[in-house]
Amino acid sequence: MKKSCKIAVLPGDGIGPEIMESALRVLEVISEKYGINFEFKEGLVGGAAIDATGDPLPEETLKICKESDAVLFGAVGGEKWDNLPTDKRPEKGLLRIRKELELFANLRPGKAYSALIDSSPLKESLIKGVDLLVIRELTGGIYFGEPRGIEERNGERVGYNTMIYYEHEIKRIAKLAFEMARGRRKKVTSVDKANVLEVSAVWREVVTEVHNDYQDVELEHMYVDNCAMQLVRRPKDFDVIVTGNLFGDIISDESGALTGSLGMLPSASIGEKYAFYEPIHGSAPDIAGQGIANPSAMILSAAMMLDITCKLPEAAKEIEKAVEKALEDGYRTADIWSPGTKRVSTKEMTDIIIKYIKEQ
Ligand code: NAD
Repeated sequence: MKKSCKIAVLPGDGIGPEIMESALRVLEVISEKYGINFEFKEGLVGGAAIDATGDPLPEETLKICKESDAVLFGAVGGEKWDNLPTDKRPEKGLLRIRKELELFANLRPGKAYSALIDSSPLKESLIKGVDLLVIRELTGGIYFGEPRGIEERNGERVGYNTMIYYEHEIKRIAKLAFEMARGRRKKVTSVDKANVLEVSAVWREVVTEVHNDYQDVELEHMYVDNCAMQLVRRPKDFDVIVTGNLFGDIISDESGALTGSLGMLPSASIGEKYAFYEPIHGSAPDIAGQGIANPSAMILSAAMMLDITCKLPEAAKEIEKAVEKALEDGYRTADIWSPGTKRVSTKEMTDIIIKYIKEQ
């Protein structure tokens, strides 16, 4: 456990500030319980930053992020800024932070809560007990490979991209996947398309080599098309899935959809030096300011931060258990409410989660 953690707090727009307040309240309780000191520094980002400074990512905010151990991020965006040129829009602030902090891996847990089984598109027998983690490479692969372009060849338009991975890029993400698996059920599924792509053949070879140092973890290789199918046929069999940028973009959305509820899904993006934690949902402008947003994804993102950056996995587990118990006891924000359950506000849901953390 670290004795102290410097945290950049970027609430952003829409429901961002409301759910961030919930996460900070939970962290205060963890601070008291574990004697860890959090040093919070708040920064402007997105539309809020545009209104104040004209820039979705002011230098001051970037400085705060770079001087911190972790960044806690709410969400950005809203209609007010939708007509600005692309490079001036709130979302640009988020893209720039990710680039500036060189976040090479995106981690998305997909956990099926028993109490929310009905919101999954899969039948109960398939989804019950699902608890997986998709790790997507974020800074390489076909989205960034050169050469790329659109041109005319032989009188017709042609578009092309390059899918490329360097050994060092594969090594660092494979290591992260094996490390994460060690704290879970000790299984890694590496996803590629090695039957047709050379880049995947190298991916598979390097992941297998890195595995030599992690013999306590089981490794399986799977083609991406098969993985997409197995994720809906037997999602319970997956623990950690590690894959490149393009395949991970698709597989992580698929795994997110399995569990159903946007307001429940946290994420982390990890770099060599920095780490960034955010819910996967957006700023939900349709419900902003009403005090009804689901704070769970933001609170669970803070739990991931406790686990990965603050080296406090016990505290992270306590938060996860408290969220689960709140659901089991029938407390629901509007987005996950169903007949027979108790509808609560953002603040009430946070109060209940905090109460359950204190009781553990
Ligand atoms: P969204 O995720 O904000 O909302 C989709 C739907 O889910 C809405 O009905 C919303 O009310 C609901 N929802 C989302 N999170 C919720 C929560 N915690 N509790 C209760 N309900 C919740 O996606 P959108 O509507 O497509 O985008 C809205 C804005 O957010 C846009 O400006 C978009 O660009 C931005 N956005 C930002 C991020 C980010 O900051 N990482 C991600 C996605 C979208």
